[in-house]
Amino acid sequence: KAKDAGRKACRYYDPAMNVATSERLQLSNGLRNALSRGELELHYQVQLSLDSDEVIGAEALLRWNHPQWGTVSPARFIPVAEESGLIVSIGAWILREACRQAAEWRARGVVIPVVAVNISALQLQDPALVSTVAEALAAAGLPPEALELELTESGLIQDNAQVQATVEGLKELGVSLAIDDFGTGYSCLAYLSRLHVDLLKIDQSFVRDLKRTADGSAIVAAIIQIARSLGLRTLAEGVEDRETAEALRQLGCNHAQGYLFGRPMPARSLTAQMAERRVSGAA
Ligand code: C2E
Ligand code: MG
Ligand code: MG
Ligand code: MG
Repeated sequence: KAKDAGRKACRYYDPAMNVATSERLQLSNGLRNALSRGELELHYQVQLSLDSDEVIGAEALLRWNHPQWGTVSPARFIPVAEESGLIVSIGAWILREACRQAAEWRARGVVIPVVAVNISALQLQDPALVSTVAEALAAAGLPPEALELELTESGLIQDNAQVQATVEGLKELGVSLAIDDFGTGYSCLAYLSRLHVDLLKIDQSFVRDLKRTADGSAIVAAIIQIARSLGLRTLAEGVEDRETAEALRQLGCNHAQGYLFGRPMPARSLTAQMAERRVSGAA
């Protein structure tokens, strides 16, 4: 809906809108060559079990290092990549690269059992997504249980047969499925029982409210309750302090991710941290 409003506003030649439009154009032109110029890179952020403190996985997060603009935030360029359709080819590269990295960690004995990859709504509408994922797994020699795909509510609520078939196809491959930013989209929960997802990622806005307000804590508790009754696991995003982690653990949240445990970082930095972790854990 916001997009429609944006398009309408363009007709009135609002100067602010022109800037935004030309910026989008610049970004999409830059993005077109970003892959071939080697400007795209994946960073990884660890995910932990709140019970055992063990690393259960890492989320791959895309970074764009532009030679003039520096690091461009995904919040700015992912929407442009979606609008221009570039997310489909970039997304295929992300899947191959994340699977390759996951396989490398396995081969080197680095214990990061699962790598999670974000899938945009547009990719979910692409009939070729299932084969793209299958090829990425095969090329890396990665077992499907080592890959998790993070889907968005907005991608799933489009109650269309194509999306339904794609999600079923992904499930048949044996990868696990998570709902990212759970609770921030339209709260039509029907898709949760219709589609076989494994994990709800509780959005960081709720996690932030958890310690601020009683309502915040009630919402997080309710999400965990929904997940439990449907047999799904929960992961809290954006956990920045110990009290929040403890509160989440007491509410029965399974996993967590956030600056408290580690920022997103290049694969080699995470590899080094994992080695340190092993040494200090053994000591
Ligand atoms: P997301 O998938 O919900 O990713 C979580 C975002 O929260 C990341 O921002 C991460 O850096 C940030 N974050 C993690 N822990 C904390 C914390 O403790 N505090 C705070 N304040 N933030 C935290 P990032 O990397 O800027 O990515 C933003 C969004 O861009 C992602 O949200 C995702 O929707 C999209 N995105 C990123 N990489 C990809 C990708 O490879 N493909 C697609 N389709 N989308 C991506
Ligand atoms: Mg995500
Ligand atoms: Mg998220
Ligand atoms: Mg988010």
